[in-house]
Amino acid sequence: MKTYAYGFPRIGKQREFKKLVEGYWSKRVSEEELFSGIGEIERKREKTYRKYVDAFPEGEMTLYDPMLDTAITFGVYKVGSLNDYFELCRGKRALEMTKWFNTNYHYLVPDFEERVPNFSIEKPIWDRHEKAKKNVYLIGPFTFLKLSKGLKREFFEGALKELTGLYIEYMNSKNFLSVHLDDPALVLELSKEDWKLIEEVYQVFSYAKCSVNLFTYYDSVDRLELLFNLPVDGIGIDLVHDRGENLKQLEKIDREGKILYAGIVDGRNVWRVNPFKIRSFVEKLGENIVLTNAAPLFHLPVSIESSSLPDELKAKISFAEERLKELNLTANIEERESEVKEWIKGLTLPFGRNEEVRKRVSLLKEDDFERKPSYEERVKVQKEVLKLPLFPTTTIGSFPQTEEIRRIRLLYRKGLLSKEDYETFIRGEISKAIQIQEDLGLDVLVHGEFERTDMVEFFAEKLEGIATTGNGWVISYGTRCYRPPIIYGDVSRRAPMTIKEVSFAQSLTEKPVKGMLTGPVTIISWSYVREDIPIREVAYQIALALKDEIEDYEKTGIKVVQIDEPAIRERAPIKKRLWNEYFEWAIKSFRLCHSSVKPETQIHTHMCYSEFSEIMDYILDMDFDVISIEASRSKGDIIKAFEEVNFNRQIGLGVWDIHSPYIPSVDEMREIVDRALRVIPKENFWINPDCGLKTRRWEEVIPALRNLVTLARNLRSN
Ligand code: GLN
Ligand code: ZN
Repeated sequence: MKTYAYGFPRIGKQREFKKLVEGYWSKRVSEEELFSGIGEIERKREKTYRKYVDAFPEGEMTLYDPMLDTAITFGVYKVGSLNDYFELCRGKRALEMTKWFNTNYHYLVPDFEERVPNFSIEKPIWDRHEKAKKNVYLIGPFTFLKLSKGLKREFFEGALKELTGLYIEYMNSKNFLSVHLDDPALVLELSKEDWKLIEEVYQVFSYAKCSVNLFTYYDSVDRLELLFNLPVDGIGIDLVHDRGENLKQLEKIDREGKILYAGIVDGRNVWRVNPFKIRSFVEKLGENIVLTNAAPLFHLPVSIESSSLPDELKAKISFAEERLKELNLTANIEERESEVKEWIKGLTLPFGRNEEVRKRVSLLKEDDFERKPSYEERVKVQKEVLKLPLFPTTTIGSFPQTEEIRRIRLLYRKGLLSKEDYETFIRGEISKAIQIQEDLGLDVLVHGEFERTDMVEFFAEKLEGIATTGNGWVISYGTRCYRPPIIYGDVSRRAPMTIKEVSFAQSLTEKPVKGMLTGPVTIISWSYVREDIPIREVAYQIALALKDEIEDYEKTGIKVVQIDEPAIRERAPIKKRLWNEYFEWAIKSFRLCHSSVKPETQIHTHMCYSEFSEIMDYILDMDFDVISIEASRSKGDIIKAFEEVNFNRQIGLGVWDIHSPYIPSVDEMREIVDRALRVIPKENFWINPDCGLKTRRWEEVIPALRNLVTLARNLRSN
């Protein structure tokens, strides 16, 4: 049996990619050093591939993002220098960034600006295909166009025809032996017209001189047979996250000698597979099978070798390199039987079980998900207790994570600073932040989240049943990385997690201080999650821990609590037909957190930029009192989604785009409010920034918040 793999992480074991590219940005690395460094990383990756699998694509490396590279190769953006290139990534001409399907990777969105596309083949400033000949990596033309923006409907068909034609020209002129086309948009719920178009346009692959292999992943293909009828040599499918749908179709398809790239090791989650089991599974698939990963491997850290996980857990998981090993073991199972046995030894060992939590979840009743009294009732009590003015002002939670904070935290983590000294330092920062907010005249204050590195990792460290990896970096966009924790066992709260800091902040002021929590869906979405129990149970376990935390807030006199759920929209399944099932547990887990609070406790939630229009009913069902959302990027366009429903909750539309250092004037912020007030009654309107302020500097935060408070005061007085 042959093996194939793709999408191996580009970050490098020691984050070499990040260091190199950021080194170039800060002029410590020359252009020449950048190119040779990237070449070096690429060679290392290929060496790893070669160690385990028979074949892999070449030219997968990018300096920032492969969607942008595709746009440049086919003339959507003209780029004359490396600086031009990075301008499109992070400079003044920066393209919009969006989540890549329902993953945590963000790609740069090519923009056709409503014009007729005009493609051409261009030599990129850094040509990732220069040395590639054998099997070359490209993003498929359908996915490229589907994920771009500003392409008018009436131009789509022509654009797809022209672009696919150019792909053929490109492939033929370069004399590639074969190409790997990544076409994950083929797993979307596509219209009849889209399928017809794919069927028609992709016929031109018969003009390719090289072999063409089309890869789909992240879900099932609704019309798999159509793909197998295209004039291509092989089709890659996801047999892990397809709920058996790909498999069911496969049984009826005559593949006529086409290769099936059977994606059987998970590219998105870390649980180790049993090669014996997958081997017997693939043997039933017939002839012409190549074993591969089910999704690109860059959603996983490079290797478990360097992570600081406990051994019992290490024995149960695989990162990217271990996935390659699993392919190899499965393909060569006869010769390597003893190794395989060794590989699966840790799989059945019990680890992380907590009977008490399980019992608590099993005893949950419908009532436990229901907050009483109704919003209309409790809002009256909250008004009396909180005594907030019209257009109350607040922030989303974090304040600047300065150089100094990061330095002190590092000292503490390295054991060079005692716990007491660290906590004294944090209290000092909180005091300063409270004073600043008092001086500015904000209405609902926050403690500033100085003690947190990351809104998920922080809770992962505090909760039983979740492990952090230490060095398990994954790219979220460009050179930006994060370390997803691993939810491996039953989740419970060892002790209060945030009470000390928040109640200290509350002790310094008469104004209400908001308690700040990350919600269950976001903790789940930005972690690797166990699969041995239903996901809803994992969510409820986390929710119960948060519920206890909120009850502790109430005991210490905290009257406002925010449960952040920025990931709720992005976690929604690719197939909309699965949305009801997903939102049901997602919403119930949120409600479980706050269902038992007193009527006077005001529950907030925060979501970052999301496509809200289709999910308004779900959002309302979360039964919060106040929601803050990002709005300034769309100049308040987001308000359209609120026009269509009866949104009888309070809402804070972000009036300041915190992703940019620009300080908006009172008038600029006012524009967003004026527009929103046509839809939202003024009694329900809050004034706040778009998102947390941890990446901003105090020099930006103070004047911007001053304008924000002035805006609220102006609004109140007329
Ligand atoms: N409370 C978090 C913060 O302010 C929210 C961050 C987020 O929405 N991503 O940092
Ligand atoms: Zn946000």
